[in-house]
Amino acid sequence: MSGISEEQKDLLKDLERRSYPPDLVLHRLFVFLKEKAEEEPLDPKWLNIWKKCEPDAYKVFPPDVIKEIREKIQSIKPIDEEIWKIKIKDETKVTFLLGAGASAPSGIPTVNKLLSELWKRARKIGREDLDRLAEWCKERDIDNIEDLLTAAYISNFAARNSNVTSLLNYFIFSGGRQLSDEEYFLPRRRLRRNPQIDVSSISFLQHTLQTLFGLLTSTMISASPNPTHEAIVSFIERHKNTSIITTNYDGCMDEALLKNGVLLKGTISGENEDNPEATQLIKMHGSINWAYCDSCQDVREFDLLELKRIYENDKLSYPVIGICKNCGGLRRPLLVPPLSFKFLMFPNLIDIWNAASRSIQDADYLIVVGYSFSEADTYITKIISRSMSMNENQKMIIVNTDLDLVPTLRDRFAAHIENFGKSRILKACESSEKALPEILKSMLGQKDNKKKSNAKNK
Ligand SMILES: [Zn+2]
Repeated sequence: MSGISEEQKDLLKDLERRSYPPDLVLHRLFVFLKEKAEEEPLDPKWLNIWKKCEPDAYKVFPPDVIKEIREKIQSIKPIDEEIWKIKIKDETKVTFLLGAGASAPSGIPTVNKLLSELWKRARKIGREDLDRLAEWCKERDIDNIEDLLTAAYISNFAARNSNVTSLLNYFIFSGGRQLSDEEYFLPRRRLRRNPQIDVSSISFLQHTLQTLFGLLTSTMISASPNPTHEAIVSFIERHKNTSIITTNYDGCMDEALLKNGVLLKGTISGENEDNPEATQLIKMHGSINWAYCDSCQDVREFDLLELKRIYENDKLSYPVIGICKNCGGLRRPLLVPPLSFKFLMFPNLIDIWNAASRSIQDADYLIVVGYSFSEADTYITKIISRSMSMNENQKMIIVNTDLDLVPTLRDRFAAHIENFGKSRILKACESSEKALPEILKSMLGQKDNKKKSNAKNK
């Protein structure tokens, strides 16, 4: 079957973006169904649109037309039927991979919205330097916080060695050509033959990063777990052979596990490593309760629940920057943007990334929740791709509202892996807080009466 046409996508975009009166929406839906629906699948977004408009349909259409539309809409299956057939055994290894979409219902903006949210907050605290940076990003359509953090980390890294800066300059801007004076990149042109790092830009960068980290942490620290996290905890209570990998900095998953008495391992504290009862929680990109020391490189994890308590009761200032107990240097939050050379910058995290890689490779089912497989994060995509090609029985369940994601992934894997069965990637195109609890119950073989009666009616 062919995919969803551009025409359908445009129509949906238009209907979502503008608030048309229900009779006009119904009319456009009807025309589309009449002309196109036989040839292509329907986007699950139509379910919501129909839900909103159905009460008005009786004013617009005769009953037989309504019946016809309803039948077509009901044929939309946001969740692949195969998913309901999966039943796991004790030895089945399940790995969850959580992305920003899993935390969105907890009130944490997703990567693309986070930056504009932070600029709003920055404006409130009246920091001229941040306003300037915000303006600069806006003019260049830079709206992804990971891009900003990546650039800041690279600059910080390069700034320690003027030869590196000089070489970056050469590779990126001249490609080996002799540069004219105008072309020369560094803002301090008079230093062109021997570029020096501008001390004031480095301190600007450090200040900006600290303030951003402060704003970022304050957005995340008060967020609480949502039904997605709770569903994973209930699943783990019945199925110990489970690991969780998350790219989120927030503490929602940790909190849900800790509050339900689940012991954690795989964190940087190194606790419970040999305890078979403990659950592996791997935070690939760091965490709001992790810190590293600029001077001695020591990496520390602090008690998340205690940090939350301190913050909520306002007993102590939240330690965005702290003093290292080892050496007296400055401790900063350990939040790592998705860089493929992050190993160089944070060598202490190699164990964590290796553990993530093993946990993906060992999985019979990889349940990917709200993770967008972004271009920036090639490291994770590569591990998954290698693992899917080595372990031909491995399956992925993708819980994501983006309808294009699964078809894209199926094509991408099919291009890389010989004889790739596209049904190895299953889609649940719904919000995770709604879909995941049902899916996990079904995998455990827990009866769901609603599902059963639906199946009987078919
Ligand atoms: Zn130190």
